[in-house]
Amino acid sequence: MENILICLAWPYANGDLHVGHIAGCYLPADIFARYQRLIGNRVVVVSGSDSHGTPIVVRADKEGKTPREVFEHFHSRFVETQLKLGISYDLFTHTDTENHHDISQQMFRQLLKNEYLYQEKQKQLYSEREGKFLPDRLVEGTCPICGYDNARGDQCDNCGNLLEATQLINPRSRNHPEDKLIVRESDQYMWDLPALSAPIGQYLSDKSGLWREGVLNFARNFASELAPRAFTRDLTWGIPIPVANSEGKCIYVWWEALLGYLSATVEWAKITGQPDAWKEFWYTDSGVENPVKIYNFIGKDNILFHTVLWQGILLGMRELGQPWDGNGAAAKTDAVRFNLPYDVPANQYLNLGGQKFSKSLGVSVEAIDLVEKYGSDPLRFYLSSILPETKDADWNWADFAQRNNSELLAKWGNLVQRTLSQIWKNFDGAIPQPGELTDADTALLAKAEAAFDTIGVKLNTVKLRDALGEVIELATATNQYLDQQAPWKTIKAGDEGKARAGTQLYVAAKVIDSLSVLFSPFIPDLCEAVRKQLGYAGPLFGRQYVETIQETTRQHDALRYDASSATGTWGPSELAPGQKLGGEPRGLVNRIELTPEK
Ligand SMILES: [Zn+2]
Repeated sequence: MENILICLAWPYANGDLHVGHIAGCYLPADIFARYQRLIGNRVVVVSGSDSHGTPIVVRADKEGKTPREVFEHFHSRFVETQLKLGISYDLFTHTDTENHHDISQQMFRQLLKNEYLYQEKQKQLYSEREGKFLPDRLVEGTCPICGYDNARGDQCDNCGNLLEATQLINPRSRNHPEDKLIVRESDQYMWDLPALSAPIGQYLSDKSGLWREGVLNFARNFASELAPRAFTRDLTWGIPIPVANSEGKCIYVWWEALLGYLSATVEWAKITGQPDAWKEFWYTDSGVENPVKIYNFIGKDNILFHTVLWQGILLGMRELGQPWDGNGAAAKTDAVRFNLPYDVPANQYLNLGGQKFSKSLGVSVEAIDLVEKYGSDPLRFYLSSILPETKDADWNWADFAQRNNSELLAKWGNLVQRTLSQIWKNFDGAIPQPGELTDADTALLAKAEAAFDTIGVKLNTVKLRDALGEVIELATATNQYLDQQAPWKTIKAGDEGKARAGTQLYVAAKVIDSLSVLFSPFIPDLCEAVRKQLGYAGPLFGRQYVETIQETTRQHDALRYDASSATGTWGPSELAPGQKLGGEPRGLVNRIELTPEK
């Protein structure tokens, strides 16, 4: 058994989740998590809403609301969307909790104490009209590296490089592009990232063959020339710097958002009544017996943050600190106690008609609309089959309907329906007793058995698209078997014919039973329904629910997962003859007919 901690990128709570977000990280992480649970590993899945980004402040200003009102609205939308999509979090929280504030301030103190933070006057862009320093995301200009005209003050979306707003050529305010920006100095804490070059390089040195090649090359290239980075910003909406005389300054949002992986694990441990359990995932010296693997599922625009900078924070902090008054009395610590991420399976982009998703440009397909209209299965199935694992992929409405109708419905839904309805009609609604097995029978059963190993290897190495392809192949083979054997004809040939038809349907039902497990990480709702039709009482997976968590002065809703009712295991069917079906079989997959405007 392994201890698997799955960390999903924290969505900015300033707009709904679109299908690009889902394909980029939320669905792949959930497929992986469900597989890990089925093979019996101890799995914890964490993420939450990033409540402190500048885009939230911008939206709040525009709508005349407070940033908290804006992020709370989208946080509850994220919870609802992901609940409906079946993204099975042990904890989906947010960054405006007391717990996260406390641990973020511990992070700051640890880095300060270990001498990775120092004060410096920093040049920042100041808007006279707005009377404030402009947050990086509110500055746009030409990328000094690739020449892209719409680079943001923190990052260029075209080449992926991280930037400082003052590096931009012709920087302009996003809200008032005509304004002249002036450069002013401001006292900030700087992060001495170059001092962590050696351990970061060491960490990246043994990831060949394990990480996706593009991810590793990008990370190594960036890690070879690390520069100091600002750790704080002039902001009021965020996590205040926990040292004296720092009014109006907060921890830079990116650093505390990354820390969310750790603080969410701490919160999960607290609310499950085992306050030290987070150490079993995060500390190398926790004494936990089995191996620990931390996975970060992200989109490609976040690679540098999750392959280099987050590691830098963990290496610099060494451990979570005790409350400290900031007077410098605490002693430096040398030994790093943290486990660093094992794998960062970053995806490329899912685009729409070749364009990046952009709500402001009207290029978007909201996940919640689709899941409400079609249910989770068609959306999860389609996105699983086009996941942008190695290159960009494209959302295509016709392809969405086509894959639903010709694969999910024709190859899987109909296979279940036509097999179980014959058992219902001709064998008193119970799995028939098989006679002697023919070569064709044993060949199909052997293929289904072997699939658990080959597909398991693909899922375990996060080759999810290939894994789904192989499950579909087994469903195709089962349909071919049924077409060739034609039990609906065999059954007409007297008692002997009926006995043979019983064997054929027994074989098909066994493979359907196996397929209901093999398909389940991808389309859990549909597979649970198939299991019920097969007559199983217990579900494959546990229960998802929304929990309101009360802290000292505030409360928040979180998405949770309770594994206690789960009975699924990753292995070939043990379906026994005589098992009663769970009622008259009915079709489980609907055809999708697209209307002209979708
Ligand atoms: Zn660029």
